[in-house]
Amino acid sequence: MEEWVEQLQNSVNTLARLKEFINVTPGEENTITTLNTKWGTTPYFAGLMDPDDPACPVRRQVVPSLKEKENRYGIDNYLIWKENRDTDEVRPDSIARQYYDRIAFTVTDVCANYCRHCFRKELVVDRELKLRMDVEEGLTWIRAHEEIRDVLVTGGDPFILSDDKIEYLIRKLREIPHIEMIRFGTRTPIVLPHRITPGLKKVLDGFHKIPLWINTQCNHAKEITEKTAKAVYDLLSCGVNVGNQAVLLKGINDDPASFKALHQKLLTVRIRPYYVFYCEPAPGIDHFRTPVEKGAELIRDAIRGHTTGLAQPMYVIATNIGKIPLMPDYYIKGKTETEYTLQNYQGKKTAWPNISE
Ligand SMILES: *Cc1c(COP(=O)(O)O)cnc(C)c1O
Ligand code: SF4
Repeated sequence: MEEWVEQLQNSVNTLARLKEFINVTPGEENTITTLNTKWGTTPYFAGLMDPDDPACPVRRQVVPSLKEKENRYGIDNYLIWKENRDTDEVRPDSIARQYYDRIAFTVTDVCANYCRHCFRKELVVDRELKLRMDVEEGLTWIRAHEEIRDVLVTGGDPFILSDDKIEYLIRKLREIPHIEMIRFGTRTPIVLPHRITPGLKKVLDGFHKIPLWINTQCNHAKEITEKTAKAVYDLLSCGVNVGNQAVLLKGINDDPASFKALHQKLLTVRIRPYYVFYCEPAPGIDHFRTPVEKGAELIRDAIRGHTTGLAQPMYVIATNIGKIPLMPDYYIKGKTETEYTLQNYQGKKTAWPNISE
């Protein structure tokens, strides 16, 4: 059996299994025995948890909390609203649309790690929302919509599918004349790097007219290991670029030191930061959410000017009307007919000529 399949079959998803990895606190034990929720991770990712620190950034993404029962600010039926599923356009369940030229194509609700902060919680973790994830139906819809040039394959985690299914999906999408690029959103390089096998590399490899792009999700430097470094290298060697979409999470990466270390460490394993998402108002994840301005402040105080420009993600809020960038807003301090006053990350000012039209 391949190691990645073994990792999934040995998922750490019972109290007894969890106790093999960490010293479970009475609070965590109470949560696991009383909270009715899907949880669990790979033995590999479980091994990255601090056995003695309940606030460990990996542990908080894996072990459920009673706070998930609280819901003061979350929006009910969040995913239906967020993914515009109650609009007039008739679409298969598997297709989420916010933009004219690209869509998100949900092909599975299975994940290697059931992230406690998941904004698709209703579908993936709590499973109250039932969507029909029929690949053929989705492909038929995409074929009929010639304006779609970019398909973002998502889930769940699409790399939990077999090599054959991934190969089929890529081949069928590449046969559609209006498709220019295919993206996969997968957490496997972080939570299950064993998934990048020689067999999968064969599926992904090649100088094709229609390129593949991958975005993974890494939220803390502690999640990055040699195994991730190798998996990313293998993906790049297939011609597949790897970006990161982090989620801004209270107590995990919302301080300048953790935020900077995360983005620097991503570059050391060849992952290019793409987005940092504001933690969305899905039900039951209030305890992970910061004020909206926080992400922009972190970019101002820890990234821009403070470290390599390549380490800079775009901070966005993913809303029902698309992603809205919220970058720090300190650059233009004044403007006259002849001159701008620009300010840098340290608060230093400089004059810049204003060319009137
Ligand atoms: C995030 C998202 C996309 C992709 O957005 P980009 O800014 O192009 O990365 C496309 N469709 C939906 C529904 C999305 O949520
Ligand atoms: S891998 Fe993605 S879809 Fe799956 S639980 Fe984590 S955030 Fe949600």
